[in-house]
Amino acid sequence: MKRRELMASLPLLAAPGLRAQGLSAADEQFALRLREAALADTTLAYQLIEGLCTEVGPRPAGSANDARAVAWAQRELKRIGLANVRTDEVPVTAWQRGPASATLFAPHAQPLVMLALGNSVGTPDVGVDAELVYYPDLAALRADTTERAKGKLVFIDQKMERSRDGSGYGRAVMARIAGPVEAARRGAVAIAIRSIGTDRDRLAHTGAMRYDPAVARIPAIAVSVPDADLIARHHARGTPMRLKLEMRNTSGIRAMSANVLAEVPGTGLADEVVMIGAHLDSWDQGQGALDDAAGVGIVSAAAAHIMKLAKSSGVQPKRTIRVVLFANEENGFDGANAYGAKYKAVKHQLVGESDFGAGKIWRVRSRVAPDMAASVATLAQWLQPLGIEAGNNMGNPGPDAGVLMRANLWPGIELSQDGTNYFDIHHTDNDTLDKIDPATLPQNVAAWALAAWWAAQLPQSLGPPTL
Ligand SMILES: [Zn+2]
Repeated sequence: MKRRELMASLPLLAAPGLRAQGLSAADEQFALRLREAALADTTLAYQLIEGLCTEVGPRPAGSANDARAVAWAQRELKRIGLANVRTDEVPVTAWQRGPASATLFAPHAQPLVMLALGNSVGTPDVGVDAELVYYPDLAALRADTTERAKGKLVFIDQKMERSRDGSGYGRAVMARIAGPVEAARRGAVAIAIRSIGTDRDRLAHTGAMRYDPAVARIPAIAVSVPDADLIARHHARGTPMRLKLEMRNTSGIRAMSANVLAEVPGTGLADEVVMIGAHLDSWDQGQGALDDAAGVGIVSAAAAHIMKLAKSSGVQPKRTIRVVLFANEENGFDGANAYGAKYKAVKHQLVGESDFGAGKIWRVRSRVAPDMAASVATLAQWLQPLGIEAGNNMGNPGPDAGVLMRANLWPGIELSQDGTNYFDIHHTDNDTLDKIDPATLPQNVAAWALAAWWAAQLPQSLGPPTL
C-alpha cells in the first residue's frame, strides 16, 4: 500500500501522526511558535489595513488611486520584511462611475438612493423615463416569455438571506450579474435591482454586471433595500409606477494595473509555491476596508510572521511562500488571469485568499487530491485551539485563488470567516475602517500563517484537486 493510500484510509477524527505526514518535530515546533507569535501581535495587520484605507482609500481598477495602492503595497511589503517584492503588470479595461439620479413616480415623486452597477452604460442625455415592471426575482424574469418587459424598465426584487457562510450571496448575485442581459433580451430599456445586501441602510450596493455582445447594453442600477421595499409596497397595491433615470458612466478606459508579489523564500523545494492572496483593488464606494484591505492586512502579516520566525530560528520554509495582492478582482479577475498566464508552469502546492472581511475564522476546508484530504487533519489540529473546526474537501479558496485553482488544478484552502454581517456593508459607502474590529485580526493572521507553513513543509504534493 502506498503511503497516500494508507493515509486516505485513516479516519479524519483520529488525526494521522506527524510521522505519517512526513512533517518533522521541528516543523511542528515552528508551527506552535508561529501561532503564539501571530496571536500575540495585535498591531501589524490592523496597521496595514488602516494604512491602505487612510493613505489610499477607494481604489477601483485602473484609477489613479489603484496606481497609488500598487505603490503603497510595494513599500509596505518591503517595510514588513518580506523578500522579492515586485509587481507584474496587468492591463485592465476600466469603468468609471459618473453622476446619476433616479426618481420613482407612483405617481408622486420619490427620489431613490441608487448606484450604477459596475460596467453599466449611462443613459441618453435626456435620461430614461419608463414604466416599471416588477419581477420578484431573476427566476421570474427568466421564466417570462411574454412581451411584458418590452420598452419598460425591469425591476428585480431579488432578496438576499443572511448567513454565516455567505451562501445567500451566491443564491442572489446572479440577479445583478445576469439580470441586465435577461431584461434587455426581453426588450427592456433599463433595469433596476434590489441591492444585493442584508442591511436595512438607505445605501445602495454596487458590484459587477456583464453584458452579452449579442444583446443591447441597457443602463443597470441597484436601489437601496428601503427603496426596494417601497417599490414592493406599491406593487402590492397595484399602483402603476414609472422610473426616471439619468446616469453618465464611462466604459472602456484602457489602463495599466499590477499584481503585487512578495515572498518568504523557500529552500529545497523553493521552486514550488504556496500562494496566499487578497485583492488590492476595491469598488469606488467607501474605503474598501472589509473588501479587501482586511485580506491584504491579514495575509501580508501572516507572511511577515513566518519570515520573522524563520530569521530568528534559522529554519526556512521548504517551499516558497508567496503573498499575491491581485489587481482588479472586482471587475473581471484580470489580476488572477494574468497571474495564471505568467505562472501556470510553476508548481503550486496550495492557493488560498482572504476576501471575506475581518470576521473570525470558524472552519477550515480544503480542495486537495482526494487521497490527500486526510493530511489536512494536521493543519486542523494546529487550528483547533483558534476555535476553527475541520470541514470537508469541497472548499472554495476565494475569488482569485478559485479562478487559479480551476484553471490550473492547483490545490486550494478555504479559511471560512464569519460573514454574518459582511453583506450589510459589502460594496457600499459604509465599507470604511471603523467596520474592522482589530480584536478579530490576530486569529486570522495566525490561521493563514499556519496554513502556509503546513503546505510549505508537507513532503507530499497536495494536488491535483477534484473540481
Ligand atoms: Zn473582495
